[in-house]
Amino acid sequence: MVVGDISTGTDVLVIGGGPGGYVAAIRAAQRGLDTTLVEKDDYGGVCLNRGCVPSKALITGADLAHEASHAEEMGIHADPAVDMAQMVDWKDGIVDRLTGGVEKLCKANGVNLVKGTATFKDENSVRVAHGGEGQGSESIEFDSCVVATGSRTIQIPNFDYADDPVIGSKEALDMDSIPERLVVVGAGYIGMELSTVFAKLGTDVTVVEMLDDVLPTYEDDISTVVKRRAKDLGVDFQFGEGASEWRESSDGGITVVTETEDGEESTYPADKVLVAVGRSPVTDTLGLDAIGLEPNERGFLETDDYARTEIDHIFAVGDVAGEPMLAHKAFKEGIVAAEVIAGEPAALDYQAVPAAVFTDPEIATVGMTEAEAEEAGFTPVVGQMPFNASGRAMTTGHTEGFCRLVADEDSGFILGGQIVGPEASELIAEVALAVEMGATLEDVAATIHTHPTLAEVVQEAAENAEGQAIHTLNR
Ligand SMILES: Cc1cc2nc3c(=O)[nH]c(=O)nc-3n(C[C@H](O)[C@H](O)[C@H](O)COP(=O)(O)OP(=O)(O)OC[C@H]3O[C@@H](n4cnc5c(N)ncnc54)[C@H](O)[C@@H]3O)c2cc1C
Repeated sequence: MVVGDISTGTDVLVIGGGPGGYVAAIRAAQRGLDTTLVEKDDYGGVCLNRGCVPSKALITGADLAHEASHAEEMGIHADPAVDMAQMVDWKDGIVDRLTGGVEKLCKANGVNLVKGTATFKDENSVRVAHGGEGQGSESIEFDSCVVATGSRTIQIPNFDYADDPVIGSKEALDMDSIPERLVVVGAGYIGMELSTVFAKLGTDVTVVEMLDDVLPTYEDDISTVVKRRAKDLGVDFQFGEGASEWRESSDGGITVVTETEDGEESTYPADKVLVAVGRSPVTDTLGLDAIGLEPNERGFLETDDYARTEIDHIFAVGDVAGEPMLAHKAFKEGIVAAEVIAGEPAALDYQAVPAAVFTDPEIATVGMTEAEAEEAGFTPVVGQMPFNASGRAMTTGHTEGFCRLVADEDSGFILGGQIVGPEASELIAEVALAVEMGATLEDVAATIHTHPTLAEVVQEAAENAEGQAIHTLNR
């Protein structure tokens, strides 16, 4: 029999084994549904293999090296030598443990794992090509399907990732030596995180950005803190310039050419150019024509509050289903899709989706900003606590930034928070819980926080909003 003739059936078919897909598959199997997960590449998707986890591993390594060499004030005199190949090996070890863990968890929960690329044949079946010469294909019929095919790096004209000096975030996380000079195209969160890593490892970093500031989705007083620190670390910013091409140069490196809107050219010498201009959803390789499903003008699959596409039994979760393209948003959507398929009363609620940028210092936000609260018809009251008034922040040697809470003046309900400073990515969990639970400023202010900890800044910001701060002057 020809391998392509094999046809199997499943209750739930999940396409893509990243954070959206593997979570959906595990939850569906936990609910007693016969579940099949098709993954063409590595379990864990972008997040575990070339995104969240590897980037945070290198951020930790670069931080440690930088801290150790800048701790004279604490009486520490060190000049660490960084072996980049070994750091990448260490990072790969973490990735392997996690991706192996995902595979084991899927199997232990009874998910059928199929390696291959799925394309729709019709509304109730896919063809899975097993990849590689002579490996054949199979058909899988399903009652419900969860599309979790994620996103890929956007390519810009004249910067082909196949060319050696041109790298994307994936290659930047796998370099076995530290480049002397790096041009980073794009000052979004991936560009900023990786610029900080390489600046701390001693690379001469130039960031080229078409807009006039870093991290445009964040409030100015937040991005300013990060930009200032990046400049202190030696990062050179060139705003209002777009990268137009690169050329080999006589010194063995390359020259990156940029252009302003008025056509003015500049050139920057480099050894590598890292393109970090964003990511686009993966929908083109799914055979969507066969089911008549069309992505929207930005390429995303539109979904309702139940993660359903316009075809009732086909769901979409994670990066392919729209912004914010974050792993924890994918987790949540995967869980909701699986529970809805299982007939449970689950639904999506985007009120409290935290976001973190692992720059130095970190940024983390959740819920509404003051402007958004105003726009939504609230009368916002704001409380702020600077890290330079926190005893714990001083003992960590990191006092830049602040914690801000935004609440509704009438009810005291916390609507959102923005933190820029040490451990912001961890601290935001308290604010997310407050927003999710409908906690008030009074609730947070009345909660006894351990002293001395960074988390006290959240309590102090709540007290500040109420005009009751003790350790800072009230507003
Ligand atoms: C450098 C970097 C750093 C990041 N840092 C963070 C962070 O700190 N925090 C955070 O929340 N997010 C971070 N992200 C974003 C995060 O990685 C994504 O939001 C997340 O991986 C999305 O999960 P997903 O399941 O939607 O898709 P993906 O992780 O992209 O997984 C999709 C999977 O589907 C598979 N696939 C695609 N098409 C098919 C097909 N036809 N058949 C079978 N399989 C298919 C792919 O091989 C892939 O494994 C980062 C991303 C990058 C690039």
